[in-house]
Amino acid sequence: MRIAVLSDIHSNLVALDAVIASLGTVDAVWHLGDVVGYGPEPDAVVERLDGLGAVGVRGNHDAAAVGRGDEAEYFNVDARRAIEWTRATIRPATAARLAALPERLLEGDFTLVHGSPRAPIWEYVTSAPVARASLRAIETRYCLHGHTHVPAVFRDDDGSLELIAPRDGSVLHLDERQVMINPGSVGQPRDGDRDASYLVLDTERSEATWRRVPYDIAATQARMRELRLPERLVARLDHGL
Ligand code: ZN
Repeated sequence: MRIAVLSDIHSNLVALDAVIASLGTVDAVWHLGDVVGYGPEPDAVVERLDGLGAVGVRGNHDAAAVGRGDEAEYFNVDARRAIEWTRATIRPATAARLAALPERLLEGDFTLVHGSPRAPIWEYVTSAPVARASLRAIETRYCLHGHTHVPAVFRDDDGSLELIAPRDGSVLHLDERQVMINPGSVGQPRDGDRDASYLVLDTERSEATWRRVPYDIAATQARMRELRLPERLVARLDHGL
């Protein structure tokens, strides 16, 4: 099976469409949450994922967009403005799709979460101690997660944790070692590379391959300005930070 793994699309339809156009043949699409928030096209992004038959999990922005708990309280001013706009404009069908997303999914050897296995909505896996605790918290060999918007791998190598920073074309061979795998962000990359980031799993070859895809950033930015989404969110797409 070839499976596309997409995370943190953040209502960026232009980026998502560029990714879809680059996919080639895949048997499945998995997403790791934050389908909405920040960007201008929440309804269309949810519709596109439905059209692909994608399955996935709930991110903090998805939760906030459908008013789950007090999630919006944790956002900075710009993120909150964008999420309030999202909440006010999404169609009921979109809200229902977001509300139905589970916090975690098990697919074969993979656990899918947005943040981390022990706190699926909010925890950031950015350090070895958190990665180690995350690997202890899963029952599968591998964990796919997003939330940081930075492509990364933490691999348990005989008790010591190895950090790998995948670039375009990087291939990770999946073996008996446990790994935390982050595909990076489709809609708002933060690793200094502005191109959309995702990965493809090949379960026959036991490989994960990262890909970067340029997209029409100006088109997304123009739409965001039209909708008066916060300028800082518009500008950061240029820098990939
Ligand atoms: Zn996100």
